[in-house]
Amino acid sequence: MRHDWTKEEVLEIYNKPLMHLLYEAATIHRESHNPNQVQVSTLLSIKTGGCPEDCGYCPQAARYHTDVEGNDLMSVQQVKAQALRAKSSGSSRVCMGAAWRNVKDGPEFDQVLEMVRTINKLDMEVCCTLGMITENQAHRLAEAGLYAYNHNLDSSEEYYKEVISTRGYQDRLDTIDNVRKTNVTVCSGGIIGMGESAEDRAGMLVALASLSPQPESTPINALVAVEGTPLEEQQPVSIWDMVRMVATTRIVMPQTQVRLSAGRTQMTREGQAMCFFAGANSIFAGDKLLTTPNPDVNEDMEMFKLLGLEPMKPFVKKAQPETVEAQYSEYKALGEKPKWTRPDHKIERNEEAKLAAKAAKS
Ligand code: SF4
Repeated sequence: MRHDWTKEEVLEIYNKPLMHLLYEAATIHRESHNPNQVQVSTLLSIKTGGCPEDCGYCPQAARYHTDVEGNDLMSVQQVKAQALRAKSSGSSRVCMGAAWRNVKDGPEFDQVLEMVRTINKLDMEVCCTLGMITENQAHRLAEAGLYAYNHNLDSSEEYYKEVISTRGYQDRLDTIDNVRKTNVTVCSGGIIGMGESAEDRAGMLVALASLSPQPESTPINALVAVEGTPLEEQQPVSIWDMVRMVATTRIVMPQTQVRLSAGRTQMTREGQAMCFFAGANSIFAGDKLLTTPNPDVNEDMEMFKLLGLEPMKPFVKKAQPETVEAQYSEYKALGEKPKWTRPDHKIERNEEAKLAAKAAKS
């Protein structure tokens, strides 16, 4: 396992003649994974919209004018019902996303902890993506039975500044570091098609691969350009870029589960098959990915049948965590107020989208 990839080396892999790249990635894939097994995750938006951040790709940012309807935090019972549905249609993991800048101790976080306990008891892997978290919050999630925490790096450190101005790259790395102080696995990846260069894609992979240990799962998203967001005009990413990105990720992070995430509705089955061949071994299932469209689960199961793929069982890569009930918890709410950064720069297209939203609302 290498953690010292340089951007030049990764770029050289990314730009290899495609057949060489595919062959190399597929060979490495077979050394660590069963190529016929694909891990299936269901993503639930447990709290939608109204986010104070300015991520240029995201329709949930309160400052942009999009069609997304906000929702308060779901109840534990609602989440349990959706998790059971996901389990019966072949998902081994439920990933719960809340549109928060960072987690705050209090009744809402306590409710999320209860959701984690509930889903873990259904013998499914539980993942959360809740924004930035402290070490104590990471321990509380671990005690509840969390299997994975998602926190994407999104892009290279350089290009990150062109997309998000309300927090810094180091904040992302610090949250990942906090998760690493527990037994929760790390899920971290990014998005292509935001206007970044191939160098930026390589830069993101260098940042991910240099984490030690490397993330246990890495989502590769293709931007879904949503009207009203600063990136609304971006053209869909080509399948060839997607295949190259998946293959390069597989080569520099041989053990990670590479997840085909947002943007699958824009991909043909042939395109997705090429991604599986290149080393993708996970998908998000369900007709919605937080707020953007995703293929129907029945269509995915048909595709699996066609390609001879099967959904992976839960806890194949790591044992199921134990759930500690709230009353026996060693880690209590500390009510911390961590100083997550607010970098002092403006992104022109984010500012324009914010002004357009103000005008539309007035
Ligand atoms: S990506 Fe997450 S943090 Fe960024 S605006 Fe959307 S919900 Fe908020």
